[in-house]
Amino acid sequence: MYDVTIIGAGASGVMCALALKEKNKSLKVLLLEKNDKLGKKLSITGNGRCNLGNTNTDISNFNSDSNLSDFKNVLEVDNFDFLNVLDNTDDMESYYDYLIRCGVLITKEKEYLYPYSMQAITVCKSFERYLNYLNVAVKYSYDVVKVTKNKDVFIINDDIKSKVVVVATGGKSYPKTGSTGFGYNVLKSFGHTITDLYPSLTHLKTDYKHIKDLQGVRVNAVTSLSVDGWIEKQEEGQVQFTHDALSGICIFNLSRDVKKYLNENKTVKIKMDLVPDYSGLELQSYIASFSSYKLQDALSCIINNKLAVAIAKELKYTNMLVKELNKNELDGVCFTLKNMYFNITDTGDFNTAQITSGGVKLDEFTKGLESSKCKGLYAVGEVLDVDGKCGGYNLSWAFNSAIIAANDILRRDHEKS
Ligand SMILES: Cc1cc2nc3c(=O)[nH]c(=O)nc-3n(C[C@H](O)[C@H](O)[C@H](O)COP(=O)(O)OP(=O)(O)OC[C@H]3O[C@@H](n4cnc5c(N)ncnc54)[C@H](O)[C@@H]3O)c2cc1C
Repeated sequence: MYDVTIIGAGASGVMCALALKEKNKSLKVLLLEKNDKLGKKLSITGNGRCNLGNTNTDISNFNSDSNLSDFKNVLEVDNFDFLNVLDNTDDMESYYDYLIRCGVLITKEKEYLYPYSMQAITVCKSFERYLNYLNVAVKYSYDVVKVTKNKDVFIINDDIKSKVVVVATGGKSYPKTGSTGFGYNVLKSFGHTITDLYPSLTHLKTDYKHIKDLQGVRVNAVTSLSVDGWIEKQEEGQVQFTHDALSGICIFNLSRDVKKYLNENKTVKIKMDLVPDYSGLELQSYIASFSSYKLQDALSCIINNKLAVAIAKELKYTNMLVKELNKNELDGVCFTLKNMYFNITDTGDFNTAQITSGGVKLDEFTKGLESSKCKGLYAVGEVLDVDGKCGGYNLSWAFNSAIIAANDILRRDHEKS
C-alpha cells in the first residue's frame, strides 16, 4: 500500500513527488508514467529552452472559466507565495526554491525565467536525479486505465493500492507527449465537472485572399482580437504569417476562446496596426512625398515588401502611382495600414495547441487542491481549469499547484499522526 500515488510524471507530477518526499522521507510515494521517461512535454517547452516562469506574476496573466475567486482562493494558501516567485521571504517557499534545490539554477531574460543551462532537457535530467536521490518509486511505461476507490483505499488498474491519489495527467494538447485527456475521465468518474475544453496558445487560420503570398513574413504590430466587431483583447509583439494562418506569441495569447466564439457563429477577426509608431496623418504625408512611386513601392518604404504588395493588390491599386490616388483613396490606404483585418476561420487543433483551456472545475476543490467530492483525491497542473499566457505561466501553474497539493497532503498526514 502506497501513501500517495501520482498519475503522470510531467511538470506537475514530478514536482508533487519531490515536494512530498523532501518534507517527509518516510512517506511511500509512487509516480506512474505511461511514457518510458519523465517530462516528454517539459523537454520541448520554450523551443527546447523551457521558459519555466515569469517575474511579472500579475493574476491577469492567468485564465479560468471557473469563478476567479476560486482561483484566487487556491493562490492564497497559507505560507505559500504563488505570485511573488522571486521576492519570497524566509517562511514562504515558491517553486523557485524547489527548482534550485533539485539542481535547476535559474536565469532571467527580460521577465522570462529559464534554466541557466537554457536547456529543457537539463531540467528533466535534474528531476530524474533528484527523484532517485529522494527514493521516489517511479514506474515508467505504466498506463493507468482505471482508478476506483474501495472504502478508504484507491485501487489503480486493479493492482496498485494507495491512500491518496494525485491526478497530474495534463490536458489534451500535444497528445503525442502523453497528455490525452485521461485525467478528465478519472475525475469525472468521481463526480467532478469538466468545463468545455478548447485548444489555446495556438495559431489562427485565416481566409485572407493573399495569405499564401505572405508566408514567412514577420512583423511587429499592435494586434487585436475583434469578436462581432468588438475589440476583446490587444497584444503587442511579433506576428508570423504562414501559408494559411497567423502565428507568433501575440497571436497565441489572443487565441484563447476563439474556437468557442467560432462555435457560437460569431465573426472573429484579427486587426493589426502595422505601423503603431506613426499616426495616419504622418503616414499620409510620408507616402505622398513619394508621389511618382508605384503605391506598393512607397508602402514598402514603411512595411514588409510582401505586405506592401498584398495591400496594394487588396485595394486594387497594384499598378497605380501615389500621385494618381486622390485624398480619400490615400486616406483609405493609411487606414488599412493602421487597421488591417484578417477574417479568422479556425484555430489550430489539440495536436498543435500548446495548452488546453478549461478543465476540471476549481470550485469542486479545496484550497489545498483536494477534491470536495472524494477524500484523498487531488488534481494538479493543466488538468485543472487554469491556463496562462505564453511566458512561463503554464509551467509555473503546474509547479505551484503541485506544491500546494503536496503541502496539503503533508499537513493531513501530520494531523493524523
Ligand atoms: C510545444 C510546447 C511548448 C510549451 N512551452 C512552454 C513554456 O515555455 N513555458 C510554459 O510555462 N509552458 C509551456 N508549455 C505548456 C506546459 O508545457 C504545460 O502547461 C505543462 O507541461 C503542464 O504540466 P502537467 O504536469 O499538468 O502536464 P504534462 O506536462 O502534460 O504531463 C502529464 C503527464 O501525464 C502522463 N499521463 C497522462 N495520462 C496518463 C496515464 N493514463 N497513465 C500514466 N501516465 C499518464 C503523460 O504521459 C505526461 O507525462 C508548452 C507546451 C507545449 C506543447
